[in-house]
Amino acid sequence: MIEDGHLISTNPASGAEAGRVPVADEKAVIAAVERAREAALWWQSLGWDGRKTRLLRWRTLLVERIQELAELAELESGKPVNDGIIEVTAAVEHLDWAAKNAKRVLGPRRMRTRLLLAEHVGHLEYQPYGVVGVIGPWNYPIVTPIGPISGALAAGNAVVFKPSEYTPVVGQWLADTFAEIVPEHPVLQAVHGLGDVGGALCRSGVQKVSFTGSTATGKKVMAACAENLVPVVIEAGGKDALIVDADADVAAAAEAAVWGSMTNAGQTCIGIERVYAVESVYDKFVDAVVEKAGKLRTGQEIGPITMPKQLDIIRDHIEDALAKGGRAVLGGADAVQAPYVSPTVLVDVPAHSSEMREETFGPTLTITKVRDADEAVQKANDSPYGLGGSVFGKKDAIRIARRLRSGMVAVNGTLTFVGMGNLPFGGVGESGFGRIHGEDGLREFARAKAITVRRARSLLPAMTFERTPAQVQQIVKALRLLYGRKP
Ligand code: NAD
Repeated sequence: MIEDGHLISTNPASGAEAGRVPVADEKAVIAAVERAREAALWWQSLGWDGRKTRLLRWRTLLVERIQELAELAELESGKPVNDGIIEVTAAVEHLDWAAKNAKRVLGPRRMRTRLLLAEHVGHLEYQPYGVVGVIGPWNYPIVTPIGPISGALAAGNAVVFKPSEYTPVVGQWLADTFAEIVPEHPVLQAVHGLGDVGGALCRSGVQKVSFTGSTATGKKVMAACAENLVPVVIEAGGKDALIVDADADVAAAAEAAVWGSMTNAGQTCIGIERVYAVESVYDKFVDAVVEKAGKLRTGQEIGPITMPKQLDIIRDHIEDALAKGGRAVLGGADAVQAPYVSPTVLVDVPAHSSEMREETFGPTLTITKVRDADEAVQKANDSPYGLGGSVFGKKDAIRIARRLRSGMVAVNGTLTFVGMGNLPFGGVGESGFGRIHGEDGLREFARAKAITVRRARSLLPAMTFERTPAQVQQIVKALRLLYGRKP
């Protein structure tokens, strides 16, 4: 809600005000980007080691104030404090990894000489864009922005961050604590507002945008960025699948399926929304899931749904699944009791129902019986989304993981890939493109720059009008010698 030039965020459990921040207009966004441009030059002048020290100091601040940050996230998003603590843990991992590895991954290096240009030496380095705009969602208001912010800052960029309108206070806290560590220049700023402020950021003169949010908004962000050919990373929605193979540890698979689907009340981009279990373990798996999910309590392990309008979508999906022949083995049509949704497990849900095709973003899970792992892979891949996924099994588990059409897969676990700073994170299809985290995530925030340096006179000059026809023939001879033999 916007009131008197302020964005007011609301605690989803109580409806009480959680905090307020000033709203930015287009002019304010452009001014923030201008300030960031100056700040970026100073930040770059610190060099790899100067930036690393400061980023690691911010990392340590997050560790020291982890409880405060998790409580703030609970106040704004409803996320249980312990889940918030785990979220900060993942954020710290990415910050630490990016800070310690940026120089190795992006720093200047000499390239091996190529025979045809032996008189030249090549240099490769990755230079920062300048100012990066980061647009974030509310469901993981700490780790989702810190992933791209870590990569962008470690690469030498300044960042202007537009947090979700549902979690602006957490976003401002991140910018404020960074400024405690780096008070000299506004290297990380937050600008607040609704979608129009995100749109203004895309058009503000930033040189790269990292967007995390829904697929529909991702398309609008791309369109806005296209106006000035601003490159983008799109981290969008998902409909992740978990496969339970015949030789899986069924109890472990059930435990992971329940956590993967119900953590953060199911409001997780890489949350498990569909399970495909092979018939030999199906009954045992369903019983174990129902038993474990049935113990979760709303208001305790299952927090409130952060966005009130999501409650209607969750209800619609459950009702559509039931109307099309699905059965609720836990929860069901009455599961939605605003602001909570109790755990719901559905079976026999047809593939064309919205619960199977669209992002539900609630604590619901469908379980489908399949003949074998091949059918599981084929059904799991039958989705416009392709973000993460999970496989439980032994003999073929990694082979199955490779065949899933997604950016990440956890074998005998769920969501684990988000906790490793050295692994890339991102999707395919409607889940987006580009990567945050790891080496790919660092390169996402830098431009590859190639430099060649002549170190001797050219014996066979090719790139000059002064070459002679005889020299061209000699080049052809050398080419035949080097590359003319059939492999
Ligand atoms: P959203 O798309 O509604 O909003 C995301 C951000 O975009 C917000 O800050 C919003 O203000 C801004 N925005 C809205 N309209 C805009 C516009 N026209 N131009 C620029 N910015 C605009 O998403 P949400 O509801 O905040 O987040 C939930 C969604 O995010 C889910 O679909 C979830 O799967 C996805 N998500 C993806 C990842 C990932 O890494 N792939 C991580 C977390 C969440």
